[in-house]
Amino acid sequence: MSRRLVLASHNAHKLEELRRVLGPLIPGIELIGYDGPEPVENGLSFEENALIKARAAAAHTGLPAIADDSGISVDVLGGCPGIFSARWAGPARDDRANVELLLWQLSDIADEHRDAGFVCAAALVLPATNEHGTPGAEVCELGVWKGSVLREPRGEHGFGYDPIFRPEGEERSAAELAAAEKDALSHRTRAFTALAEEINARLSD
Ligand code: IMP
Repeated sequence: MSRRLVLASHNAHKLEELRRVLGPLIPGIELIGYDGPEPVENGLSFEENALIKARAAAAHTGLPAIADDSGISVDVLGGCPGIFSARWAGPARDDRANVELLLWQLSDIADEHRDAGFVCAAALVLPATNEHGTPGAEVCELGVWKGSVLREPRGEHGFGYDPIFRPEGEERSAAELAAAEKDALSHRTRAFTALAEEINARLSD
């Protein structure tokens, strides 16, 4: 097997970000984009949804596929928005509306009870190994970036919930960090760094 991997996402920015993260970790990797059909993400966890996306891309392309699913989990909300992060304020996937709704929901919550984490599940699925379509090996790694939810948005960088997330040990919000600073700490980097070990172990040069 070669080190060609398909990223099960139509998002060109994610492809660039993961090329930066995985390039140094996986010798000879060629990470390619995916424009095939997108499956229904009806899993009940980040891991299930990442695996659903990677399975669909591996089945469609016949190549090893990686995928991720991510969001913000707030302790006092029992882990929500969680897998509903992108659509927390409705199907429009509007970052600003999502942030406003979450801030309103937490408006009565004291500073010491606003703990949260960005979570990312990163999955690898190998293609079917026979003509019956028996799925290949599957593995999924979880990365968590702990912090808390601020009372107001701060900063211009990043996307999604970055302006209201203050990482542990930081005075700044995630949107006040430079992209390289966020890359070094983020849930996505943690999950894909762990997954890189699995990829190296499973794919030959
Ligand atoms: P996904 O693209 O289906 O994984 O959805 C991820 C959603 O979770 C995004 O729409 C954001 O709302 C949120 N999210 C995930 N990662 C981040 C991050 O690094 N910063 C801010 N928001 C994030």
